[in-house]
Amino acid sequence: TLTGTGLHKAFGRNKILRGVDIHVAAGTTTSVIGPSGSGKSTLLRVLNRLHEPDAGDILLDGRSVLSDDPDELRQRIGMVFQQFNLFPHRTVVDNVALGPRKLKGLSKEEARELALDHLDQVGLRAKADSRPGNLSGGQQQRVAIARALAMKPEIMFFDEATSALDPELVKGVLALMADLASAGMSMIVVTHEMGFSRSVADTVVFMDGGVVVETGEPEALFENPQTERLQAFLSEVL
Ligand code: ATP
Ligand code: MG
Repeated sequence: TLTGTGLHKAFGRNKILRGVDIHVAAGTTTSVIGPSGSGKSTLLRVLNRLHEPDAGDILLDGRSVLSDDPDELRQRIGMVFQQFNLFPHRTVVDNVALGPRKLKGLSKEEARELALDHLDQVGLRAKADSRPGNLSGGQQQRVAIARALAMKPEIMFFDEATSALDPELVKGVLALMADLASAGMSMIVVTHEMGFSRSVADTVVFMDGGVVVETGEPEALFENPQTERLQAFLSEVL
């Protein structure tokens, strides 16, 4: 369970988050939608303390993490971004094995076995010894997901994980994310893919101007938006 309460974040005089509450129950997927600049990425970065919140609290399993070592928190949260940030000169399997080796103290062999298991999970074991540059964008993103999973995170954050992909590659990555969700992974998914939000998310959070304007189950939220702001947003993106 991940909970953020009353989260505020400003950059200089620019107030980006203005009191955000979010609650992700264990094993559920929350999708965060909203216009560009509404603070979605900032919310994820505050939740894993890449940015420290100016106010508010972050709780994992009911315990505040704000006094913990931020690196420790980041090991408990898997992050997948638009850009995959794989090491180009390392093999696919090494990219996945690196975190468990360096941060979890696994031996080279143990880390390789673990990495191969996760490559299996994302359907890419056959590419283990390739370089990332020889894979398609969709395959590289699945490697990035395997890399995050290999750290055994308690929750996964996805920030526009499919936005940089060629259209024909989007489906495979979304299908993998849907598989993770149905396997019981806790996830926050920032996405422009309304189809995914609607069919996979347990909860949808609509942000605008640094606040949560509406939140609810996908069907209610998409079928019956309560605010003009959400109505306007949906009429633009659907
Ligand atoms: P998009 O859909 O375009 O990704 P978003 O909802 O993720 O948008 P954010 O990236 O959270 O929006 O940005 C919200 C606002 O915060 C933007 O106006 C952005 O310029 C500003 N911002 C984000 N990060 C920083 C930073 N490190 N320093 C200063 N301003 C920032
Ligand atoms: Mg963003």
